[in-house]
Amino acid sequence: LHTGTMRIIGAEEQHVAHNYHPLPVVISRGEGAWVTDVEGKRYLDLLSAYSALNFGHRHPAIVAAAREQLDRLTLTSRAYHNDRLGTFAAALAKLCGKDLVLPMNTGAEAVETGIKVARAWGYRVKGITPDAATIVVANGNFHGRTTTIVGFSDDPQAHDDFGPYAPGFVSVAFGDAAAIEAAITPETAAVLIEPIQGEAGVVIPPEGYLREVREICTRHNVLFIADEIQSGLGRVGETFACDREDVVPDVYLLGKALGGGILPLSAVVANADVLGVIRPGEHGSTFGGNPLAVAVGERVVEMLSTGEFQRRAAALGEHLEARLDELVGHGVTEVRVAGLWAGIDIDPSVGTGREVAERMLTRGVLVKDTHGQTIRIAPPLVVRATELDWAIEQLKYVLEG
Ligand code: PLP
Repeated sequence: LHTGTMRIIGAEEQHVAHNYHPLPVVISRGEGAWVTDVEGKRYLDLLSAYSALNFGHRHPAIVAAAREQLDRLTLTSRAYHNDRLGTFAAALAKLCGKDLVLPMNTGAEAVETGIKVARAWGYRVKGITPDAATIVVANGNFHGRTTTIVGFSDDPQAHDDFGPYAPGFVSVAFGDAAAIEAAITPETAAVLIEPIQGEAGVVIPPEGYLREVREICTRHNVLFIADEIQSGLGRVGETFACDREDVVPDVYLLGKALGGGILPLSAVVANADVLGVIRPGEHGSTFGGNPLAVAVGERVVEMLSTGEFQRRAAALGEHLEARLDELVGHGVTEVRVAGLWAGIDIDPSVGTGREVAERMLTRGVLVKDTHGQTIRIAPPLVVRATELDWAIEQLKYVLEG
C-alpha cells in the first residue's frame, strides 16, 4: 500500500471506533459510477454505498437541487412549517400511490417508525390487547442497527451482546408464506419483510411469495410492511421490488437512495387509515423533513417519476445477469440477480468474499463481501454496459487467480 493511504488509514483507526472493516482504499473524489483515491487511482464503484448512490456520485441534477436549497434554508425543525416538505411529500406519496409520508433520516429510523405505526394501528384500529402486539419478521433479515431491530436479527454479529431485546417479534423462514400465516395470531399487527433480502446476499424469494404475503395480510387484517430501503427506488428495474409481483404493501419503508447520495433521508409511506394513527407529539426527529434533505428527495422522486432509471436498471440488469451466469462453475457457485443488483457466491476454493473484494480492489473495482462467501454488487444505475463488462472481466481474472 502507498504510504499516503497507510498514513490516512492509520490515523483514522486511532480515533474512529472499529465498527467497520473497510477495504484498504481512501477515496477523495467521486463522479458518476467512478471514484478516485488519494493516490489518484480510479475505481468503478459497484457497491454504490449499499444502494444509497443509485444515481451515482454527485449527480448534477441532485447536486443542483442541494445547492439551490443551501442558499435558501436548511433546517427549521418541525416546530415550524417549511416551504419544501409539503411538495416533497406530495411527490413521494404519488410515486408510492399512497396518501401520507412521515419523513425521518436513516433507514433504521424508518423501520423503527414503521414498528411504532404498526403497533399504534394495532391498538387503535385493530383492537389488539394493550402491549400484546406482535410483528412477524423473516429469518436472515437486516433492518438496521438500533436496539429493537437487532433484537429480531438472527445474525450473531448484529445481535449478540446487545440485549436485553425488545419482545413482540416472531421470526419465520424467508420465502415461506405458509410460515407467516402460521405465525399470525389475533395479536399480530404487521408482517415486516424485505421483498428481496439485501444484506443476506440479495436473496430473492420464490415467485408468488410477495403476492401470497399480501393476500395473507389482507385476510388476517395485518399490515404488510415492505422494507424497500435497499431494494426500492429503481434498483431492481422497477420503482419497488414489490412491483416485480404487482404487489402493493400497506406501508413502504424507504431510505438510502431517497437522499440522492448526498444526505440521509428516509420515509414511511402509507395511506391515511394507517399512518394517520400517529398524533402530534407521539413521534418525530429534529432533522426529519428538513428542507435541505427534502429538496434533494423531491429531485430524486422527480428523476424516478419518468421511469428512465428503472428501465435502465432493468436493461442493464439483464445484461449483467447473462454475464454473471457464465461464471457459475468457474469460481462462482451461484448468482442471484434482480435488476442491477446481484449476490455472487464465491467458490471457497477460490477464497472468501473478502479476499475476492480485496483482489477486485487491486483491479480497480469496488465490491463488498457479505456473510463470508458472498460478494454483492449494486452498481449506480448510471453505469454503462461497457463498464459492467470491464468489471466482469476483472472478476474473471480474480476468480482464475
Ligand atoms: N433496511 C434495509 C433493508 C437495509 O438494507 C438497511 C441498511 O443496509 C437498513 C434498513 C438500515 O438503514 P440505515 O443504515 O440507513 O439505518
